[in-house]
Amino acid sequence: MANPGLWYYLLAVLLLCELWHGPCYPSRVLSAWLPCSDSDTSHAIGLQRERHYMKIALREARQALKLGEVPVGCVVVFEDEIIAQGHNLGNTLYDGTRHAELIAIDSLVQNSDFRLLEGCEVFVTCEPCIMCASALGQLNVKRVVMGCRNLFFGGCGSVISINAKSALGKCLERGFKCEWGVEEEAAIELLRIFYSGKNPRAPNPKFRRKSFR
Ligand SMILES: [Zn+2]
Repeated sequence: MANPGLWYYLLAVLLLCELWHGPCYPSRVLSAWLPCSDSDTSHAIGLQRERHYMKIALREARQALKLGEVPVGCVVVFEDEIIAQGHNLGNTLYDGTRHAELIAIDSLVQNSDFRLLEGCEVFVTCEPCIMCASALGQLNVKRVVMGCRNLFFGGCGSVISINAKSALGKCLERGFKCEWGVEEEAAIELLRIFYSGKNPRAPNPKFRRKSFR
């Protein structure tokens, strides 16, 4: 049998690791060495890929923020190639329909063929509104990956599920998959920065007139 002093020494090292790195540190180290199952590996690779495209969409959102726009960015991917991207331009163009998704779609129409959207994946920093979700559905996109939810206008589950096959009847032949939560905190942080500042293009708030008798 090995020297019991050695076991005490190893136990002390493990306890120190726990204290220094947080609970279950040794088990986390061990699990990192253990072989992953195929599904674990593919999930990790998938998430890495999603984060990659979402980071590019976040770059678009930051450009929108610099312009005084609601910071939302979008990237359209077909067979692992970015074929379109865009960010909100509603304030700049005085056009409330110029959302990141529609800007990206329009660039495809101008540069090539909007039928390319069929089977595409759309990465957008904030859940598409009802208008954009409807447009994406009618263009038969395959999947929409979102950063954060849009609890006020979201068309992919938050307010209404336009992505569901039954939502638009014959207009939406297949429906499309929706996932959210990729780089969520970064997406929310940009929105927080925008809404904590002043939007010079926002309409004047409507105050209720005081009635004097
Ligand atoms: Zn929209």
